[in-house]
Amino acid sequence: MDLYEYQGKELFKGLGIPVSEGRVAYTPEEARAAAEELGGQIVVKAQVLTGGRGKAGGVKLAKGPDEAEERARDILGLDIKGHIVRRLWIEKASDIEKEYYLSVTFDRGEKKPLFMLTKEGGVDIEEVAEKTPEKLARMHVEPLTGFQPFEARWLTFKAGITDPSEQKQVMSIIGKLREGFGQLDAMLLEINPLIVTPEGEVKALDAKVTIDDNALYRHSDIAEMRDVEADDPQERMARERNVTYVKLDGEVGILGNGAGLVMSTLDVVGQAGGRPANFCDLGGGAQADSVVAALEVITSDPGVRGILFNIFGGITRGDEVARGLLDALERMTIDLPIVVRLDGTLAAEGRALLADGAPANVHVEATMLDAAARVVELSR
Ligand code: GDP
Ligand code: MN
Repeated sequence: MDLYEYQGKELFKGLGIPVSEGRVAYTPEEARAAAEELGGQIVVKAQVLTGGRGKAGGVKLAKGPDEAEERARDILGLDIKGHIVRRLWIEKASDIEKEYYLSVTFDRGEKKPLFMLTKEGGVDIEEVAEKTPEKLARMHVEPLTGFQPFEARWLTFKAGITDPSEQKQVMSIIGKLREGFGQLDAMLLEINPLIVTPEGEVKALDAKVTIDDNALYRHSDIAEMRDVEADDPQERMARERNVTYVKLDGEVGILGNGAGLVMSTLDVVGQAGGRPANFCDLGGGAQADSVVAALEVITSDPGVRGILFNIFGGITRGDEVARGLLDALERMTIDLPIVVRLDGTLAAEGRALLADGAPANVHVEATMLDAAARVVELSR
């Protein structure tokens, strides 16, 4: 789950990382009121779940309440990489002397958190990594030991931060990110830019935070921060119905049991010349209720032109799966072609049930490849 900058900053604040004071605003009038309360120079920042807001005109300075209201009017409704701005973060403006970059992310390859620190902040970190990798200090840390001060010293030294006061503050922030990464079950904590003010104060001017979805059950306060309006409507519908679903861009709706089988189904559909419209995993059973829920989510995607129902019967028996599907198709009307591939335990019984009782738009195939070819053909 990705958080908005202001939510990330709230978490940073809780960890003891310095951030600027600010307020959330949904309207230009609220932006004005926030600027009045905060006083002085103000920065008006689009809150969207994507980066590069500065470049897209989503971050603007304002001298006071009048200008803050004007800037808010400009920014609200902006389309930043497909995200429409509906919230603003009104923050006390900072004077910037230097812009650094600091992050900790989960490196799946190494199975360890990875810290990155560079004095070349404010810009795209990918660019720094590509063009001047020697300027990017990288360090993996052991997930099970707590914060080790030498890690912070090594990173700071490696990044070439030489001012003693800066070193001290940056090392303290590294320690806090290190503790916070575990405590919050984060996948990413990124500060870009981490600034140094003319007075020598180091603070987080931006916050990019991603929390592991699988750990949200133990962070109800964070789970509540989710902005359901910003979610893809199909993914939201799926979450509400407990269906594991990822929206893709193709025309073949896919429904299978088990993540591995669904992944291979995406591949064979590609092999057959089609494009998957989604990833959808029914999990263990294939009861009518879950089949109905999944089919409703899949067919709510206007791009879907055909459905591939790919089930391997293990503990779930083929005849139960067939009954689940028949039952589901009795409860809902689907005009799209549905190709079913049933294999495994009692698959023959299941196929026989479908041959007898299924509506005419249901086609049964014996192998995965045949099923993929058929559904691709029918989805043209
Ligand atoms: P991003 O473009 O989405 O990463 O948004 P940021 O929060 O990083 O802001 C983009 C840029 O706006 C920063 O790199 C700064 O240069 C500038 N900026 C943001 N806040 C302030 C501020 O308080 N004062 C000044 N002078 N510039 C700011
Ligand atoms: Mn940024």
